[in-house]
Order: sequence, then C-alpha cells, then structure tokens
Amino acid sequence: MTDQSYAERNKDFCTSSKLKAFQKCPFCFKLECIDMIPNPRAEERDYFTTGTAFDYVAEQGGKLDKYEQQYPIIRKGTKQYDRAVAEGVTPITGTIDRDVRAMVHEFKENPLFVPKIKKEKLIMEFGGLKLKAELDHCDNKNKIIYDLKSTANIMNFDPSFHVFQQSFYHWMKEELTGERYRVRLLVADKRPSFSRSRVYEYTEPVLMQARGLIFPLLEKYKQAHDLGIFLPPEDERECETHDYYGYESHGRLSRVLYF
Ligand SMILES: [Zn+2]
Repeated sequence: MTDQSYAERNKDFCTSSKLKAFQKCPFCFKLECIDMIPNPRAEERDYFTTGTAFDYVAEQGGKLDKYEQQYPIIRKGTKQYDRAVAEGVTPITGTIDRDVRAMVHEFKENPLFVPKIKKEKLIMEFGGLKLKAELDHCDNKNKIIYDLKSTANIMNFDPSFHVFQQSFYHWMKEELTGERYRVRLLVADKRPSFSRSRVYEYTEPVLMQARGLIFPLLEKYKQAHDLGIFLPPEDERECETHDYYGYESHGRLSRVLYF
C-alpha cells in the first residue's frame, strides 16, 4: 500500500492526517490530496511500508503466513519485482522483512499489547465535512482506543507527536457513542537485532487540550475548500523542507541571505 492509495481512498473525506498536512502547508496539501500529484518524496519512505506491513501482521494476530505472500522479498529493478507489483503485492527488502519480524516478535511477547488488532472505521458528518478515522483497534467493552506505532528507536519516541491524531479519534468516538474512551499507543521499534516496545496512555487533560485545536482547524480547512484557496505558510523558510519543494518554485527562497 502506498501513500497514493491512501489519498485515493480518502479523497472525499477529511482525516486527521489530512488535517495535519493542511495545517503544515495548505499548498502542499492541495497538491497531494486534491490534485493527487504523486508525492516526490514517497520513494524515500521505507518506514511507511514497514509500518503498514507490521499492521498487517498484527491484524493476523502475529501469524506470518499471509504476510509472506503479501510482502515477498524481491529486489527492486527486476522483472520479478514488476510482476509482483502488477499482481497487487508489495515487494520489500530483506531489511524491512527483518524489522517487521523483530517488531512482530515484540508484539506477541508484550502482555500490555492486544493479541490481535481489528481495524474499526469511524465516519461522521461535522460542519459540512465528511470526517473519517481508521482506528487500529478499539476495545468497546473496556472503552479503549488503541493505535499501533512503529518507530526507529523507542528511546527517541515522542508521544506528543501523535496527540493531535489520537485526540481526533477520541473526539470522534465520543461524538458517535456519547462515551469517553481512553487512548493507548502500542509502540514497537525496529532496532536491528531486537525490537523494544512500550505502551502509552494519554491522560484526559492532554487529549482535551488537543481537542481545542481541532475545531478552529476544521473551520479553516472547510473555508479553504469552499474558496479553493490553499496558500503556503507566510514564512518561506518553513517551506524549504516540504515534500513539494521546487514545485512552482515552492520553498525556493526568493531573497538572498546576507551573511
Ligand atoms: Zn509546502
């Protein structure tokens, strides 16, 4: 699965990751999510495949047989590679396979994790927008939302990076059920040779504070769509690191820097 199919799948929906992308840069957001121009940096994103493959195995309760068919190890640039892609499977490198297996081992061994994840889709209408969230797992009996994360190094993992997304899920679940859920992150890293894992639970004040950011952002998002105006951030130096750098001179500094 690629970024592009994610964009395709969610074309008519507003999701937390689209909101976050819009917040970072409405211009890049438009190119990727509305104009569907393939992300020029997508090739660099091996971590994306690792995470998706890990999710896939977690959905099988840690069993690897289907994964081995869906994610065969094939070298890029070979005929076999092209054939596999045409058949709808995702060829991966030996390194990705090693990372996924290490994380799966940790997924199965950590008793704080859930034994098998089952995705749950949330859809609702809000302020003229169609909102969608794909929860990795939801324990509706104990009222806990789970999200599975893979990371390069758990020692540098920062849960604040995911607060917005999780708060969005937390809010949607409450809107749809009238109940306030708890939210946990199941985190495994892909350190070579072994994988480590942790579970975080966001406290309610943290989730509620982030919730306050959702509404003004949804309003801006709606407005930009209604007007068809998607401007980059005012400070052009912010755009130097953007995925669509160079597109219509986006992010290329228009002034000399004096030194
Ligand atoms: Zn941008």
